[in-house]
Amino acid sequence: MTFSVSLGDVFGEDLFGSFFGGGRSRGGGGRSRGVRGSNLRVKLKLNYEEIAKGVTKNIKVKKYAVCSTCGGNGAKDKGSVQTCSTCHGSGQVKRVQNTFLGQMQTVTTCPTCNGEGSTITAKCNSCRGEGRVYTEETITIDVPAGVQAGMQLNVSGKGNAGERGGMPGDLLVLIEEETHKELQREGLNVAYDLHISFTDAVFGINVEVPTIEGRAKIKIPPGTQSGKIFRLKGKGFPNVHAHYEKGDQLIQVNVWTPQHLTDEEKKNFRKTEPFGQP
Ligand SMILES: [Zn+2]
Ligand SMILES: [Zn+2]
Repeated sequence: MTFSVSLGDVFGEDLFGSFFGGGRSRGGGGRSRGVRGSNLRVKLKLNYEEIAKGVTKNIKVKKYAVCSTCGGNGAKDKGSVQTCSTCHGSGQVKRVQNTFLGQMQTVTTCPTCNGEGSTITAKCNSCRGEGRVYTEETITIDVPAGVQAGMQLNVSGKGNAGERGGMPGDLLVLIEEETHKELQREGLNVAYDLHISFTDAVFGINVEVPTIEGRAKIKIPPGTQSGKIFRLKGKGFPNVHAHYEKGDQLIQVNVWTPQHLTDEEKKNFRKTEPFGQP
């Protein structure tokens, strides 16, 4: 699978694809088969772990697929495909005009067969001559690690089948991100808010924190100030274009300062006051 990533410009092409899809496969002259299929657009929601590691997804898509009865040419059988009598199979017609400059020759697409070089005398019953049928297909998508919401993967040739053997369109996969309960993506980095008690900030503590790929143990040293940020190197997301480049996990410490203390607790805090003073 080839993929290209583009941010933005996600909508719009589909409309043009279906209205002008046929026009694209033409051009350049010569025989062209059928009409190009339009692009298909799907959304794919991924969680943080899938984004970090990359994932292979099988998704069901409703689309036009090549008719298996006629193999896509739209004819009832071999005998019902005839070489076009206007262009004799070339798909082109030449016109010679006499002008004051002399004879001018122009080559245009054959109007009888629309450039296909053949005509059909009896249509396939399964697809009524269209060469394709509307059906559901499972498509495998290889998502590279490090994609982001709003990116688009182009799966070449997996869009709608063309009419009468025309080129298929592409499948355009729009990436969406599932939100994580505890982590927040910030580009390649991932942020986590750690809440610890005043006492734990004073004396230090070993705590477990969530990461994209499971939980990790970290050591909060004694005397940690609220707002301090600890960095878990390489625990962020890989760069989609360069997987060796990885982000970090940033752990911001938030110290709960007690508000409602009993007289006893207040007395104890006064005793430990030297700890809290820099
Ligand atoms: Zn058919
Ligand atoms: Zn023709």
